[in-house]
Amino acid sequence: MKIAELRAEVVDVLRRLEAGGLVTGTSGNVSARDPQSGLIAVSPTSISYDRMRPEDVSVVDPEGELIEGAAPSVELPMHLTIQSGRPEAAAVVHTHSPYATALASVLDEIPVVLAEQAAAVGGPIPVVSYAPTGERAMGEAVLSAGDAWAAIVRSHGPVCLGRSLEEALRCAFAVEEAAQVYAIARQLGEPALLPSEELVRLNRLRLRPRASAAPRDRPPRSRS
Ligand SMILES: [Zn+2]
Repeated sequence: MKIAELRAEVVDVLRRLEAGGLVTGTSGNVSARDPQSGLIAVSPTSISYDRMRPEDVSVVDPEGELIEGAAPSVELPMHLTIQSGRPEAAAVVHTHSPYATALASVLDEIPVVLAEQAAAVGGPIPVVSYAPTGERAMGEAVLSAGDAWAAIVRSHGPVCLGRSLEEALRCAFAVEEAAQVYAIARQLGEPALLPSEELVRLNRLRLRPRASAAPRDRPPRSRS
């Protein structure tokens, strides 16, 4: 995907986050890396999502030098740290979604309660220590979660990874949905967890190569 397409996708993802209630105002930020050039498209700072144009989206090199577009989000150091520390992920979506952020103030992990969580996140969602906003330390806090595809920074909000922005967006919605369901269920009793074999199966499907995904999921047919 070319950087111009990634810039348009950044705008689209930010609008979908806002429409879904995962961010408000100009909070939240996203980034996506073009694997060919290594350039990163990242949210610009302080432009409302309804007015943002693809050409406003910041394009930076891996060191964070602005190549084109408006000034990047204050969370650029966090995005650069994760983009370089998790090369298997090419996209990062950071939100302030309320249930996930609330649970992170009282839990160290959100266990796997939903099939969609297994399919879009791949496992429990760890809570990592608070780190100051605008610094690489917040990215390092997320990296401390190991190979998790989502982590919630305590007293701040979730950070979700994906091989594409579409995957990272789905992850962000799944994190909030799981947090909401877990929070409600905990008030009523002890929530049942997803069976471990189902977690393994859905996580395997999640990580399959996207190009060959559909045919392998169908019953075998004669090859011609
Ligand atoms: Zn934030």
